[in-house]
Amino acid sequence: MPHFSYEDGVLYAEHTPLTDIAEQFGTPTYVYSKAALTENYSAYADACRKYGRGESGALICYSVKSNSNLAVLNLLQQCGSGFDIVSGGELLRVLAAGGSASKVIFSGVGKTADEMRLALSHNILCFNVESIPELHRLNEIAGQMGKPAPVSLRINPNVDAKTHPYISTGLKENKFGIAYEEALATYRIAAVLPHIRVVGIDCHIGSQLLDDAPLLEALDKLIELIDALEQEGIAIHHLDIGGGIGIPYEGGDSVPVGDYLARLFAKIDEWRRLKHGASPIQVMFEPGRSITGNAGVLLTEIQYLKHGAEKNFAIVDAAMNDLIRPAMYDAWHQVLPVIQHKIPAETYDVVGPVCESSDWLARERALAIEQGDLLAIMSTGAYGMTMASNYNTRGRAAEVMIDGVNVHLIRKRESPSELFASESIPG
Ligand SMILES: *Cc1c(COP(=O)(O)O)cnc(C)c1O
Repeated sequence: MPHFSYEDGVLYAEHTPLTDIAEQFGTPTYVYSKAALTENYSAYADACRKYGRGESGALICYSVKSNSNLAVLNLLQQCGSGFDIVSGGELLRVLAAGGSASKVIFSGVGKTADEMRLALSHNILCFNVESIPELHRLNEIAGQMGKPAPVSLRINPNVDAKTHPYISTGLKENKFGIAYEEALATYRIAAVLPHIRVVGIDCHIGSQLLDDAPLLEALDKLIELIDALEQEGIAIHHLDIGGGIGIPYEGGDSVPVGDYLARLFAKIDEWRRLKHGASPIQVMFEPGRSITGNAGVLLTEIQYLKHGAEKNFAIVDAAMNDLIRPAMYDAWHQVLPVIQHKIPAETYDVVGPVCESSDWLARERALAIEQGDLLAIMSTGAYGMTMASNYNTRGRAAEVMIDGVNVHLIRKRESPSELFASESIPG
């Protein structure tokens, strides 16, 4: 069900007209649909249930970095979600949102000693370790704290996710994970470190995958490794396939989560069936974009229309500091006028006020618009607000969550004075 749709020529979020949001909270503002978030999470949870994975059979660990607002985390926590974090800060966010550390897994190539201490002190579920030096540091800190560290090794299965190079992470040349060829040797090291407890295996091959074939290929490689490890007496209790399912930014299709999980569970069930007497393996997921991406829009107001010899520009009050995906990944987001006018459309580049040529949000779009109109930049719920900056001393946007006709301000707009409040002048 689309949670952002037109009624009588006005774009709504659930049952709330976006014009009301702009009036009440100003622009730019991120607007999230609670129903969309819940529905996207349920696609994972329902498939897990359907394929016989109860509480202990599967764990969905929402990737916090895609959208880390406390209200979003709290909602997903209420749905039963665990969390995949990539920093100590994200752990504190999860806890502040009411999440439980016992469902937190900690990914990332550069965990500091302090972050490890913080995570160990809260008894997180698992560290997804990405290198041998990280393993040694974690062993040392766990020893000092007298707490064994539960560990999964992030294996780089060398699978081409066929996505944008900046969001592909599973190839040999990436900084992420432990090379497939070194996986066994690294597990042998982990298995004998006194303060490391090997519990799992994981991978995350990239983001915005529209097809699940690379993910299933990665699964095959993890299964091979688990078999080899078991032969050496290293038991693996969970298999974490990472995140990565994409969303159809440009219309078209992405693989439905239910279909992907059906194929994934079928492979795992077949493998376990062939290993008579094998204990069930817990399956974990780390979805980000597929939960939050299409659940949010960025609401912005047109400041000026500039008609040039070569190009027309719609200059809006949102900018690359609010949404960096177009500038960073050449990302395409649909742009919809909040009020549909019956005037001729013209072709515009939608740009922000920031002093960079890369400050664009959309290019060459046919839009029937006037100065002062509101635009919605669609599918910006993931990697929108979390990647926002204060460049040009621009306060970050407000965030609101819509629940039917109810509107909740879940982050107020940053004021300029807040931006320099922690600075000081020497002398
Ligand atoms: C970013 C990230 C994810 C989430 O990726 P999506 O494409 O948003 O699903 C999952 N796991 C790890 C380790 C990540 O870095």
